[in-house]
Amino acid sequence: MTRIQAIRGTKDLLGDELARWRFLEETVRAVAERSGYEEIRTPIFESTDLFSRSIGTDTDIVQKEMYTFPDRKGRSLTLRPEGTASVVRAFLENHLARERPIAKVYYIGPMFRYERPQKGRFRQFHQFGTEVLGPEDAFYDAETIAVFHSILGSVGLGDLTVRLGSVGDESCRPAYVERLSAYLRGRREDLSEISRERLERNPLRVLDSKEEEDRAVVREAPSILEDLCDSCAKHLDEVRRALDRAGIPHALDAGLVRGLDYYTRTVFEIHHDRLGAQSALGGGGRYDRLAEDLGGPRTPGVGFSAGMERIVSVAEELAIRWEMPRELRILVAPLSERASEEVLPILLRLRARWRADGSARPRNLKTVLKQANREGAGLLLLLGGEESAPGSALVKRLDSGEQENILLDRLEERIEEIASRIAAPGAARKE
Ligand code: AMP
Repeated sequence: MTRIQAIRGTKDLLGDELARWRFLEETVRAVAERSGYEEIRTPIFESTDLFSRSIGTDTDIVQKEMYTFPDRKGRSLTLRPEGTASVVRAFLENHLARERPIAKVYYIGPMFRYERPQKGRFRQFHQFGTEVLGPEDAFYDAETIAVFHSILGSVGLGDLTVRLGSVGDESCRPAYVERLSAYLRGRREDLSEISRERLERNPLRVLDSKEEEDRAVVREAPSILEDLCDSCAKHLDEVRRALDRAGIPHALDAGLVRGLDYYTRTVFEIHHDRLGAQSALGGGGRYDRLAEDLGGPRTPGVGFSAGMERIVSVAEELAIRWEMPRELRILVAPLSERASEEVLPILLRLRARWRADGSARPRNLKTVLKQANREGAGLLLLLGGEESAPGSALVKRLDSGEQENILLDRLEERIEEIASRIAAPGAARKE
């Protein structure tokens, strides 16, 4: 029979690689929570309308990349391709605005897009991100960028480029879209087929085309930064000044448009040189109209989302070591058949305080030592050996080889004492 394999564009996480992911996740939680964000977990699938109405029907995501399927009653569902739409839906549905004027949340989880798998692009990938719902102040745009920046800094990534732009709002964007359309119509012959179609319905989407042929046309397109109304220009200026004061270098990028329709005003991306073509670690921006587009009251918002696969891969390429502080591991091994019966009760006692594992059957000391080393155990507890009296065990430190007989009656007390003398193994470090 043919063996069943994982779906193209997905992958299993295990072993050392998973340890790196957990380190990244812990860092995200720590930085986000210290910055006043609370975790939110929304469902993996939602009704398809949520995404087509927020991300926009003319975007690549909605047109080509969503995993959409009918459920058994024929309702159209979609595996979430991004996090923001769900967060805003949850904010409205759970009446979070009643509880607080400003909601600050973060999320970590899998997202799904039917894209061509390649380096840095998967069909199930993972993002973390934050959203601030309620305020319009540039302070929160800058804070969002700063939180993303400090998460990257906390996992050892430097050499970051923050690209910042603005897509204006409903008062200045229409005039720009007119100017852009006129320009694009003039270059219609040079555009790809899909861009020619979009030119009629949603010319802004031509700017984030992934088609090779569109590159030159997009590069020479007029910039929205020159068309911003006074209040959008002032907002952008405030974001820039706040970033300057916070010591976060950034570059204005007139061509920055992101592949989703819901953005207003601020848009940004953080890039790392090491990533080559797919150089964005993540990005985000402000979406002051999104809550209304989803049927709620006007609720300004700003957020970012970052790709975890890309962050892990840059850290790997730069050989940055990510390690969690390791807790003491104890291995319990019976050396006789009789002693095997004591293994589980002793493990349960030890597990109340430490990480402990044991073997079911007696084996020779050499095999046990090999296993202890392989698993990175700090202490070995040998039961039923010739050297230990009944009702006692031989405890061996694996770092120094020191050993002593301890009475099982005083197991926890003695191990506490011995453990306090073992240096904390593998504290978090970067090399
Ligand atoms: P976006 O929501 O498209 O702005 O994506 C934000 C970030 O998520 C990107 O900068 C990438 O780091 C990551 N990302 C987006 N799509 C994928 C994908 N298909 N595979 C891996 N990472 C992705």
